[in-house]
Amino acid sequence: MAKILLNKENLFYNFGVISKQAGSVEKVAVVLKDNAYGHGLLEIATLANEFGIKKAVVKSIDEALVIEKLFDDILILAQKDIHTYSHAFHIAVNSLDVIETLPENIKVHIKVDTGMHRNGVSPKEIEEAFLGLYRRNIQVTGVFTHHKCADELTTDFYWQKAVFSRVKEDVKRICEKLLLPLPAFHSCNSAALFRTSNFDEDFARVGIATYGYLDNAGIFKFPKLKPVMSLWASRLASRVLKKGQSVGYGGTYTASEDMSVSTYDVGYGDGFLRLNEKNKYTTPKGFNVLGKVSMDNLVLNTQEEEVCIFDDVHALAEIHDTITYEITTTLNPNIKKEII
Ligand SMILES: *Cc1c(COP(=O)(O)O)cnc(C)c1O
Repeated sequence: MAKILLNKENLFYNFGVISKQAGSVEKVAVVLKDNAYGHGLLEIATLANEFGIKKAVVKSIDEALVIEKLFDDILILAQKDIHTYSHAFHIAVNSLDVIETLPENIKVHIKVDTGMHRNGVSPKEIEEAFLGLYRRNIQVTGVFTHHKCADELTTDFYWQKAVFSRVKEDVKRICEKLLLPLPAFHSCNSAALFRTSNFDEDFARVGIATYGYLDNAGIFKFPKLKPVMSLWASRLASRVLKKGQSVGYGGTYTASEDMSVSTYDVGYGDGFLRLNEKNKYTTPKGFNVLGKVSMDNLVLNTQEEEVCIFDDVHALAEIHDTITYEITTTLNPNIKKEII
């Protein structure tokens, strides 16, 4: 059976590097949305808890419910209907118009749009948001924003930082006026955290670095991290491909001499994006994926029982012209996970 191995030592190594950059483990919120970027929500949450991380970020309440007991605070990024609530939950307010629909007596973090123009209230609307929430007995426990260019070499990163600094001043003034406690401020994802020296916010929301990746690490001289996930496949069947015979859909790979080949139980149905004759991919041990990847299997030039398909997804991200995030996140959540 195909399986995902999760390397605990590598994960803890990454958490160590991240905590150091953030100043302390208390300042790290681990981002576990989308099944912990494909790594397994409960598995990574349990290990993060063991490391001492107290905060998590997810997309939905259903995700938050799975990990509720493992964290003190859970920020829920994208849930409009609050069907269940726990005191550990903090709901992101992504626009002014949801305020009237929220249940009373919950805790929220106001998202501010400082330039990404995706979610959040505008800096001008922040006072209106506070007043609306105040009237409804909703407690503002955080104010945050998200960078559009944290991992790109542009000045937008600094513009957004400057806008968010002004938002912080406004929020301090509003809280003084309304006699409210100051909320937590946070703006950094992985790349933004590692671009910030002397990090001084309340916490950072760290996703991809947790799992061992940082895009454009070369440009920014980011520290080396260690990939946590490796994907393994089991042999289904072997045969000798005679010189001139071809294998798989379309017969796009033809043997130039007699060779033994085997099928392995990973395919695009498992979320391993489809490779074809145009994309050459070689496993860490040097086996080649031959021809097209099928829905449930792929063919390699080996007869080994268990093969590591990847232990680092940089090469696959490049082949598929995408980011490391997409390669791990698309993996089928049903693939068995094992912590090593
Ligand atoms: C996904 C997400 C993050 C994590 O980003 P990484 O680049 O994976 O660290 C942080 N904040 C928000 C709002 C997100 O949606």
